[in-house]
Amino acid sequence: VAKRNGGNSCALFEAHMDRSAGEQLSLLSDLRQALARGQLVLHYQPKIDGKRGQVHGVEALLRWQHPERGLVEPDEFIPLAERFGLINQLGGWVIDEACRQMHVWADQGLRMRVSVNLSVHQLRESDLVGRIEQALQRNFVPASQLLCEITESVAMEDIKATQRTFDNLARIGVYLSIDDFGTGYSSLSYLRQLPARQLKIDRSFVQDLESSNDARAVVDAVIRLSHALGLRVVAEGVETAAQNDILLQMGCDELQGYHFARPMSAQALQSWAQDGDNRRSAGNSPLAFSDSVL
Ligand code: C2E
Ligand code: MG
Ligand code: MG
Ligand code: MG
Repeated sequence: VAKRNGGNSCALFEAHMDRSAGEQLSLLSDLRQALARGQLVLHYQPKIDGKRGQVHGVEALLRWQHPERGLVEPDEFIPLAERFGLINQLGGWVIDEACRQMHVWADQGLRMRVSVNLSVHQLRESDLVGRIEQALQRNFVPASQLLCEITESVAMEDIKATQRTFDNLARIGVYLSIDDFGTGYSSLSYLRQLPARQLKIDRSFVQDLESSNDARAVVDAVIRLSHALGLRVVAEGVETAAQNDILLQMGCDELQGYHFARPMSAQALQSWAQDGDNRRSAGNSPLAFSDSVL
């Protein structure tokens, strides 16, 4: 199975070529039913604030609870959904569900900032901004509590759609993030034209931090330039304490990865936050939504 490496379209392609055409077809017909049958679920992975060690927010990651196959990962079904016109429907559900969960958390006194991932197809959808606005209003969630992540290569794939949709989302107050930065071929000077607030360094660079001087130099330069452009930097795929230390020394604003926590159900996230051991690795503070940053 092709190794997942942060939004790399080549790896996604290989991953879904691994399945025979027949198997893909059966997966596809199951996927058409998945939404109606309530098999989709969002898992949430904490993002840790580098300076305070608090949970700064979570990223919503889509999962499919298949009755026979078990939990299916997004790299297996999102490319399929994109190819066969299901992604706008799935993506719409993700937005609604993330906002519903923010409402539930808010009722429990937890103002949690949530990121959702958008596909390029959603950027082209004319009513995306309206749908997001409705989901926010219905759940009494302020727009600035929602972040939309778009992978760098996707942002480059359709620059016009990206620019237009980003501008419209920024206008209603939603924060925008460039995901998997470093895997595409864009320049920071192009990204400067987008109203993004955040840039996420792809996990492939984070992985190499300890072993490669080049990776360190690239990450250091990306953090400096991002800060000069007023962007917050998130490192994804932080798996070791050493990577964490290097990134903190470089001034990385937020960290996300298995070193802190894996993506988990909304319920598991709550127990995780209340567990003292987890709090220690995340810096000994209670789960808190910090409003002053970003
Ligand atoms: P992403 O947005 O870059 O999300 C990060 C991925 O890295 C997630 O994989 C996460 O589980 C994984 N990850 C986090 N920390 C670590 C770590 O320390 N080590 C390693 N090896 N991996 C880590 P996941 O959940 O399988 O998602 C894969 C991709 O699928 C996402 O990459 C995103 O591009 C896409 N995706 C997920 N949910 C959605 C969605 O609702 N809509 C769309 N359009 N795409 C989604
Ligand atoms: Mg990715
Ligand atoms: Mg993401
Ligand atoms: Mg990413």
